[in-house]
Amino acid sequence: MIEPGEVWLVGAGPGDPDLLTRKAERLIRSASVIFHDALVGQGVLELVPAGVRKVSVGKRSGRHSKDQKSIDALIVEAALAGERVVRLKGGDPAIFGRATEELEACRAAGLSVRICPGITAASAAAADLGLSLTLRGLARRLTFVTAHTLKGQTLALDWEALADPQATLAVYMGKAAAPEVSAGLIRAGLSADTPVALVENASLENGGQFLTRLDLLPLAARTALGDGPALILIGQALAARNMDLLRSVSQRRRPETVASASV
Ligand code: SAH
Repeated sequence: MIEPGEVWLVGAGPGDPDLLTRKAERLIRSASVIFHDALVGQGVLELVPAGVRKVSVGKRSGRHSKDQKSIDALIVEAALAGERVVRLKGGDPAIFGRATEELEACRAAGLSVRICPGITAASAAAADLGLSLTLRGLARRLTFVTAHTLKGQTLALDWEALADPQATLAVYMGKAAAPEVSAGLIRAGLSADTPVALVENASLENGGQFLTRLDLLPLAARTALGDGPALILIGQALAARNMDLLRSVSQRRRPETVASASV
């Protein structure tokens, strides 16, 4: 279904291969080369047929293996050489996925480039928690925000706009910036006891969910999480599930610090 010289940006979802769309799976099976992120689940990569070239262009915070321009160039070069190119990205390609750069690079080279959406981390995290991100009358707005900063820069988010008690905030790449997120929102007027959930490795067997409150978020982020990708969810919608969810960040991590960070 991919023509030679065509590029598809494909959403790999949060990790569980069962959460791939059928279209994503078909595209993966018809590619001749796949450029994938570090966050693409192992189970998804196992679906790539033998003989299809898999190239990791993995980026994890602070450990960029390739800069964006080289990734753009690799994709364009492969397509111009007549390959059927899949650029496989964690979650949904259009959410914090640097898709624009890749789309523009392809279009500038006169290539056909399309997007196959995927399940974003926030949706997978809500599913793991067993709750809704929106709540009638209580959480009317859902905001996706990234707390990632370029090296050496400080986090410049509009805290006043984000500190909405009627919103659910999904913070991507927020682990390192958890102290700033917590302090910024509280300073802007969001209540210190606003419910917060941290979800690590959403959709995967080694996943963990942890509930805390906004003022304890920095402690929780520091002590409860391992080194998997983690999403921070903030807002009253998270109050729908409570301590019974302290199923905790699996036993392999330090349960005593998990307990002391809980409410
Ligand atoms: N395009 C992706 C997001 C890329 S940004 C998407 O739509 O999901 C990378 C960030 O996404 C990570 O730092 C983390 O905050 C979040 N993330 C990605 N996969 C995740 C997972 N399985 N569990 C929890 N958070 C995840």
